[in-house]
Amino acid sequence: PTVKEAPPVLSPRKPTRKIRVGQVEVGGDAPVSVQSMTTTKTHDINATLQQIAELTASGCDIVRVACPTDKDAAALPIIAKKSQIPVIADIHFQPKYVFAAIEAGCGAVRVNPGNIRKFDDQVGAIAQAAKDAGVSLRIGVNAGSLDPRLLEKYGKATPEALVESAVWEASLFEEHDFHDFKISVKHNDPVVMVRAYEMLSERGDWPLHLGVTEAGPAFQGTIKSATAFGALLSQGIGDTIRVSLSAPPAEEVKVGSQILESLNLRPRKLEIVSCPSCGRAQVDVYELADSVTAGLEGMTVPLRVAVMGCVVNGPGEAREADLGVASGNGKGQIFVKGEVIKTVPEDQIVETLIAEAERIAADMGIE
Ligand code: SF4
Repeated sequence: PTVKEAPPVLSPRKPTRKIRVGQVEVGGDAPVSVQSMTTTKTHDINATLQQIAELTASGCDIVRVACPTDKDAAALPIIAKKSQIPVIADIHFQPKYVFAAIEAGCGAVRVNPGNIRKFDDQVGAIAQAAKDAGVSLRIGVNAGSLDPRLLEKYGKATPEALVESAVWEASLFEEHDFHDFKISVKHNDPVVMVRAYEMLSERGDWPLHLGVTEAGPAFQGTIKSATAFGALLSQGIGDTIRVSLSAPPAEEVKVGSQILESLNLRPRKLEIVSCPSCGRAQVDVYELADSVTAGLEGMTVPLRVAVMGCVVNGPGEAREADLGVASGNGKGQIFVKGEVIKTVPEDQIVETLIAEAERIAADMGIE
């Protein structure tokens, strides 16, 4: 049997040590995972589990839930048990919730030392409890909650300040011989964030969780995250990612997955290669591309589908794809694996492409 060659990547992953978040491995040779965070009140168990189910269906690997109150902490055991993907409890301020989350069976706990008073005193006990339970941690340094000592030293949350904070907090755990943690150094400015992660990755082999904080509404947040993650992942930096959007969390997962697919860090699924249209177009390319995208939505078959507006570049591009259409004169030439298989009237293009995609999927044994 022929072994399928792995698609090229921009650079090899920078070696990091591997940890586990529940059943998902992070770091080392584990695939880069996609995370998101629920927006429900965690103590509303049904709503939270419902959202986790939606996130799981959209391809989320790991989910984080906020835990700001006793009621939320009390909900963690059921959520951790019933969630299909590992749950990370997100803890600020109150060390008691760190212990509650570890006991609840969460896959990991995110701690923000900048927000935990007298954090240094608690490290030994947290490390021991996590070690006993086989739970990993994330040290989540955040520009908005930087240690006041470092803010004073650097004047603001510079990359150097974020990295110094992270390295210091990591050393506290390492002094207790605890190594099962990943680190994030988030900032809302992609340039600061990229510099911080680059510097941090030079300082140790910790697995890194990438994130741009407060990235903004969907459009801006998508661009900021794609730019920042692209800059880092293309250098092999980053073991798990979370896109933060002021939008439903399933959108974050879609964006995160697409970033990884674009860089060949995750197998590509359906990919629509549509032309931008121009004065030569003989069909409404935007509408056609939207209809084809909507018609093929949810198909898991790894297909490149070309939607081209005219016959100038159309047939060439359509031939490069698994499936494609080149439009012209009110008709569409349908290509499968480089061969014109038929020409159909414009109003049958979408249904023909969908039927062909389903046929290819069936041939591949994919639903
Ligand atoms: Fe223009 Fe045709 Fe190229 Fe589309 S495929 S951009 S319509 S030349």
